[in-house]
Amino acid sequence: MSITVSNVSKSFGDFHALKGIDLEVPSGELVALLGPSGCGKTTLLRIIAGLETPDTGNILFNGEEATNRHVRDRQVGFVFQHYALFRHMTVFDNIAFGLTVRPKKTRPSKKEIREKVHTLLKLIQVEQMADRYPAQLSGGQRQRVALARALAVEPQVLLLDEPFGALDAKVRLELRRWLRRLHDEIHVTSVFVTHDQEEALEVADRIVVMNQGKIEQQGTPSEVYDRPATPFVFDFLGNVNLFQGRVHEGTAKMGGLVVETPEHAGTRNAPAVGYVRSHDIEIERIPFDTASLAAQVHGVVTVGPLVRVDLKLPGNVEGIEVDLSRDVADRLDLKVGELVYARPRKVRV
Ligand code: ATP
Repeated sequence: MSITVSNVSKSFGDFHALKGIDLEVPSGELVALLGPSGCGKTTLLRIIAGLETPDTGNILFNGEEATNRHVRDRQVGFVFQHYALFRHMTVFDNIAFGLTVRPKKTRPSKKEIREKVHTLLKLIQVEQMADRYPAQLSGGQRQRVALARALAVEPQVLLLDEPFGALDAKVRLELRRWLRRLHDEIHVTSVFVTHDQEEALEVADRIVVMNQGKIEQQGTPSEVYDRPATPFVFDFLGNVNLFQGRVHEGTAKMGGLVVETPEHAGTRNAPAVGYVRSHDIEIERIPFDTASLAAQVHGVVTVGPLVRVDLKLPGNVEGIEVDLSRDVADRLDLKVGELVYARPRKVRV
């Protein structure tokens, strides 16, 4: 089922949480709402769910007006950050719940329910745990059961609000990969809220980047990552360094960097800002033949698979951060205080 959000606004008192949101979620896609805390992601999800009413605008399902449709008539399934499983029920009963409470006319037989739950247990890879209670499961297993419970009633739309937010980093990583594979199998139209850029980039078919109640950009992961439409998107999707300077005859000079400028950069002497992602900078001990920036190593820290190097550049008071892969960092073996040369591979003006 496709979802259309048309010019939706929502205020709480005099706070404008959503300001004219337009969004199209095609049937079968997995779309991430990505943005910093408080940007309105959850409010938008709750409006799609029917848990909140917009002040203005419309929600359409498959092109049909659904703004005032009751939540139970929307055929949506939810999974929230804090698993809301019934503690006194087994995994089996939790998953079966939505089917067993149906009115008699539409309720499947006991046998059908059993088969359905077993298919779902298999899908979420906890087949042996049907008789356990939620307290006997790990956090990751509980979230998978919550997902199976949401899927049991065959929703047309699945809404997930930071579903892995409460889990530790390793389990989170596993579960987001698992969610991607699961979605490839079942293709239910899904919207999931996250403030984690990597999660959105890895899992989603399309990313909607939100900021202060508005959509900054929407597109495929590579569109928003490689062609960010605004400085906010560029910054939010990757660790970024800023170089400030001025335009000078088709180029901009920024803290030792000289970059060709596009026409929109303005006329001579207009202020210019160059953005460089921290993994788009190379470091060597000898100068590069072009765009070499002399710098001093100010800090070296290992962060998971990366080594983050803080560099001080003359004229760039804040310094810059460079992310090197472990093998490059091992080869360079940088020490604090050393003089090196840096070269940005990609500068966006
Ligand atoms: P987070 O990731 O922190 O949950 P979010 O992007 O999901 O953030 P929302 O939960 O949609 O943000 O909230 C957007 C803004 O609206 C926040 O500033 C929040 O305080 C405010 N807000 C949300 N619900 C209400 C409410 N029921 N009453 C008053 N203010 C609210």
